Amino acid sequence: MSKIPYTVYFFNNCHNLDHVAYYGTRAFFDLGTSGRQENQARNLRPGQACVVVSQSSGNRVVFKWYSFEYETILPRDDGVLNRVFLGRFLTSEELPKSEAAGSARYSAFFNKNTVHFKTGSVFHKDIPLANRPVGTLESKKATHAPIDVEEQDLTDDEIDKALRANRLRIGIVPTDSQQGQVRQRRGQARIRKLTVENYGTRCAVCDVTDHALLIANHVVGWAEAPEHRGDLSNVICLCRIHDALFEAGYWSLGNRLGLLRKKSVASNAIRQVLDGMTSFRKPLEFPPALCFVKRHRERAGFEG
Ligand SMILES: [Zn+2]
Repeated sequence: MSKIPYTVYFFNNCHNLDHVAYYGTRAFFDLGTSGRQENQARNLRPGQACVVVSQSSGNRVVFKWYSFEYETILPRDDGVLNRVFLGRFLTSEELPKSEAAGSARYSAFFNKNTVHFKTGSVFHKDIPLANRPVGTLESKKATHAPIDVEEQDLTDDEIDKALRANRLRIGIVPTDSQQGQVRQRRGQARIRKLTVENYGTRCAVCDVTDHALLIANHVVGWAEAPEHRGDLSNVICLCRIHDALFEAGYWSLGNRLGLLRKKSVASNAIRQVLDGMTSFRKPLEFPPALCFVKRHRERAGFEG
């Protein structure tokens, strides 16, 4: 058994970049937005196994395993935009280079019969399922099954955990009971709380920090995509003013999360609000996924 091949994406972090420091806690790798890297590791599916190698001390190397969640585009501190890969950390192991180079699990990183890393940033390779380290063989059912907020009495902690794992569903099962509606509202309240925290209690595009004015805005709307209501990469923190103008399509986000403003606006008041927006500030984690941003752009008429 366990001869079933399993595709693993290998990411070479030979310069030991700290992706978490650059992009937030769920980031594990980045690639450029042009040239060769533009087209590498395209269209990874959620749950894809990814392993990132970094150098450790004394000829040792560290392998960190992640379950891929989504890709976005974010600036490093030098302002350069990069494709950023986000996911859930699974496990890590540290090995002497020589041992790693000779192992079936990691030899893909090395030039044949040497302890030198291959040049290049990304490879993918089928390895036998049994060669994955302990801690990466998660039960799909236990870790990915959706949780309907109306169906059980969840604590705030349980709701937060489900949201952070992108497993919480809201309003998918029919419910008209009072209890179901109370549970639904609790789910919405937790989405707002996590989103406001994620954006440092501040509107993502201006300087409003008044808690009473901050809203969890669904990039792809509540009614439009019920299945993405609990997806934190579909929610941004906005003040009520920018929320209203975002909903009405007066502004949107570009593919690199730059601000797009509607050109012909009759109202001076709205024009002033649009001009007062600074730039989109990246959150601590769960930056908006580009697929949702694109849908908003299309709906607001910025695309095509
Ligand atoms: Zn604002």
